[in-house]
Amino acid sequence: MKFVRFKIDKVEKKGILEKNRIRRIAGNFFTDYTALDEYYDLSEIQFLPPVKPSKIICVGRNYREHAMELNNPIPKRPLIFLKPPSAVIANENIIKLPDISNRVEYEGELAIVVGKKCSRIKPIDAVHYIFGYTCFNDITARDIQLDEKNFTTAKSFDTFAPIGPCIEDNITSEEDFNIKTLVNGKLKQDGNTRDMIFGIPLLMSFISSIMTLYPGDVIATGTPKGVGVLKKGDVVEVFIDKIGTLKNYVD
Ligand code: ZN
Repeated sequence: MKFVRFKIDKVEKKGILEKNRIRRIAGNFFTDYTALDEYYDLSEIQFLPPVKPSKIICVGRNYREHAMELNNPIPKRPLIFLKPPSAVIANENIIKLPDISNRVEYEGELAIVVGKKCSRIKPIDAVHYIFGYTCFNDITARDIQLDEKNFTTAKSFDTFAPIGPCIEDNITSEEDFNIKTLVNGKLKQDGNTRDMIFGIPLLMSFISSIMTLYPGDVIATGTPKGVGVLKKGDVVEVFIDKIGTLKNYVD
């Protein structure tokens, strides 16, 4: 099922994305919900981020060829950093280029959405704590990142965490996901999660050994090779098989 949050007439609602419409649900994705006989056309709604994470954990350099394209070594253990929840925007929202950067880049990524509170779990148990998967764009001010040791400034600007459009729960961590990023319709990244250095179960286990994960927390699993610059007026899309397309405008 493809779970979404959306807004219509300034009211926030939750629903299930069907082909060209949304069926409203009552309740909570993570616990229990009821599907209602209430439908909306996609043309009349605005997407909201599908979750409100308490934190976003990103994994850096998790694809060999991406580490190499930026002349970075392959990490010995997952290299993680945080993005603030205040950076989150939804499908079709605008990424704002900050004045203090001249090189803002896209990073199309698969994101895990945590479904249950967990701490210090084993890789083999990770599947029980994952609610589903969504598309993520780890927007980065690359000039600032290269200038500093800490990633916080480069990764944390408002609008630097596009997420959505939906959370798909009907897929598993054993599946391979094809990830494509397009800028103005041109293919820029074409990767597959089978090329991750650290896979989904190991990432869940490692991160939960450091910090307790809560329902709605997001883990962005790293970007394949092909990162590049975004300019004012660009349209950037992250497409993942079985999930859909996260589309954002750049201003
Ligand atoms: Zn990234």
